[in-house]
Amino acid sequence: MNESTPLQPGILLVLSAPSGTGKTTLARRLLAELPDAIFSISVTTRQPRGREQDGVDYHFVDVASFQERINRGEFVEWAEVHGHFYGSSQAVVDEARAKRGVAIFDIDVQGGYAIKRKHPDTVLAFVLPPSLEELGRRLRERGTDAEETIRRRMLAARSEIERGIATYDYILVNDDIERAYQDLHSVVIAERCRRGRVDLSNLHLEKPGTPDSGR
Ligand code: ADP
Ligand code: 5GP
Repeated sequence: MNESTPLQPGILLVLSAPSGTGKTTLARRLLAELPDAIFSISVTTRQPRGREQDGVDYHFVDVASFQERINRGEFVEWAEVHGHFYGSSQAVVDEARAKRGVAIFDIDVQGGYAIKRKHPDTVLAFVLPPSLEELGRRLRERGTDAEETIRRRMLAARSEIERGIATYDYILVNDDIERAYQDLHSVVIAERCRRGRVDLSNLHLEKPGTPDSGR
């Protein structure tokens, strides 16, 4: 973020990581522990997979409905990935701003850049596996992907990591989940204290001559 960029209330927190790193585990914990956190459930035109539920994992819609949402300006960003559309709702940004809360976006690096272009005070956090070997182990242990898919995800991981570590604001290594969560929580605490984000309205600094200040 540029030093002169004015901050707005609330925090837009993008969490990106190669699949299998533990980003969903971290995002869910943050959501459970921060009373003012809002999780951005993306809208997609792809079909639900496995146990995915509408309104929990994604909002599943058809292409016509997605197009209408684009036309109505409902997305803060959207993209086509592997032939399907994915978008993040502007309403989540508005809610975080209004409540001075934390909006969590669990999206890829491209999506993170797109939100940051529109909202330069967006906080980009990249989660790293301790090693590529451990990432492979976690993907196999999770048991949701075929071996071929795991191989593809491992190839994609390398280039995503290169982009993430070069451009994101924070890098969190998820070796131990407890420590990684404490790191993520600390990022949120520090970001809340940034000049411009703290609510100073009770100081009434705009009104000179309050009783104690008369000299
Ligand atoms: P992502 O959302 O990044 O794809 P998940 O949160 O689904 O990743 O985590 C992938 C797998 O790795 C899960 O089985 C999860 O329980 C496990 N996992 C997450 N963090 C750790 C960690 N620090 N150590 C060991 N296993 C972990
Ligand atoms: P999947 O279909 O496997 O859930 O996701 C495919 C890709 O789309 C992933 O890289 C995921 O990060 C990305 N994605 C999910 N939601 C969004 C979104 O709202 N916006 C963008 N730009 N990408 C998304």
